[in-house]
Amino acid sequence: MVKLENSMNMALSDSIINLDHGDPTAYEEYWKKIGDRCTVTIRGWDLMSYFSDVTNLCWFLEPELADAIKELHGVVGNAATEDRHIVVGTGSTQLCQAAVHALASLAGTQPVSVVAAAPYYSTYVEETTYVRSGMYKWEGDAWGFDKSGPYIELVTSPNNPDGTIRETVVNRPDDEEAKVIHDFAYYWPHYTPITRRQDHDIMLFTFSKITGHAGSRIGWALVKDKEVAKKMVEYIVVNSIGVSKESQIRTAKILKVLKETCKSESENFFEYGRDMMKNRWEKLREVVKESDVFTLPKYPEAHCNFFGKSLESYPAFAWLGTKGETDLVSDLRKHKVMTRAGERCGSDKKHVRVSMLSREDVFNAFLERLANMKLTKTIDL
Ligand code: PMP
Repeated sequence: MVKLENSMNMALSDSIINLDHGDPTAYEEYWKKIGDRCTVTIRGWDLMSYFSDVTNLCWFLEPELADAIKELHGVVGNAATEDRHIVVGTGSTQLCQAAVHALASLAGTQPVSVVAAAPYYSTYVEETTYVRSGMYKWEGDAWGFDKSGPYIELVTSPNNPDGTIRETVVNRPDDEEAKVIHDFAYYWPHYTPITRRQDHDIMLFTFSKITGHAGSRIGWALVKDKEVAKKMVEYIVVNSIGVSKESQIRTAKILKVLKETCKSESENFFEYGRDMMKNRWEKLREVVKESDVFTLPKYPEAHCNFFGKSLESYPAFAWLGTKGETDLVSDLRKHKVMTRAGERCGSDKKHVRVSMLSREDVFNAFLERLANMKLTKTIDL
C-alpha cells in the first residue's frame, strides 16, 4: 500500500486542484531559504528610459542580464552563447512568436507551414493561429508533415508534455527552406541530464522554468543569424517596445545568485530542484504502480555533464495515461483535479498532462486523489 504523507490540510481537502498550468510555485521554499540575497532595490528615478544599450542589436536588453545569461549557460554547459545575439522577451512565449514571425517574414513564399511533433506544447497552436497571420500557418503534427515549400519545425526538448528528448522529425537538412526553432525551456539539470552543449540556430530559454520566477515574464533567445535576430527585435518593438527593465534587473540578480549556488555543497539550486523532482516522481510512480490503471513514460538514464554522473530524467510534467478506454481529463475533473487534455497536445483522450511543479501540499493532495480514483469507461469505440 502506498504511504502518502498526510499533509493535505483542511483547506485543500475538498478544493479544486489545478495542475493544468505549469505554474512553478514548487521552488518558493528554496528562494525563501536564500532570503535577502536576491532582493533588488529600485529607486523612483531608476530604469526610466526605454533604452538599455543603444550599441546592441537588442537595444532593450539590460547588459547585466546579458552577462548573467552567458555566465549561467557557461556554468551549466547546456548551450553555446558565443557568436550569437541574445534577444530578451516578455517570457519565451513572446520570443516564440517573434521567431516564427522573423523566419516567416524572411521566407521566399508565404504562408510558411509551422509544425511540431505530437504530443506537442498546446500553446504553440494558439501562438500560431490567434492573430490569423497570413505569413504562416499552423499545420499540426510534424510526424505526418510532407508538404513541400518553406516550413518551421518547433522542437521542444525535453518535450512538454511527455518529457522525451527530441530532435527534428521532418529533418530536411539540405533544404534551405527548412527552419527549426529549438525550445529548451526544460533543458536544465534539475529536469534532465545535460548531455551536450546545444548549438542550434535559434534556441529559446525561459526564466520561468529554471528558477520558478514565471511572474517576472522573462525569456531569452540565442540567435545565430543577424537578420533573424533583427526581425525578432522589430517584432518585440512593435508588440511591446521592449521588455520590462525591472524584470530584467531582478532576473539578472537571481541568475547570478543561482550561478553562485552551483559552487555550494549545501545550497546548489539544481541539486535541490533535482532532489525535489526525484522525490515527487518516485511517489507518483508508486501510486501509478499500485493503481494498475494508469501509465507513465519511462526515461533512459544518461550521463549528465553538469553533475558528472549518470542520471534519470524528472520532467516538469507527467504525461499520465490510462490502460482502459476512458476520457482521463474528465475523470480527473470529477475528482476536482484539473489537467491538460491530451487532445489539446495533438494526442488522445487517454492521456493528460499534469504539472509536477505545484506547491508540495497541492502535489500531495493530487497523489491522494489519484490513489483513490476509480475510472469510468466513457470512450465510444
Ligand atoms: N515553452 C515551453 C515548452 C513551455 O512549457 C513554456 C511554459 N509553459 C514556455 C515555452 C513559455 O514560458 P514563458 O512564457 O513563461 O517564458
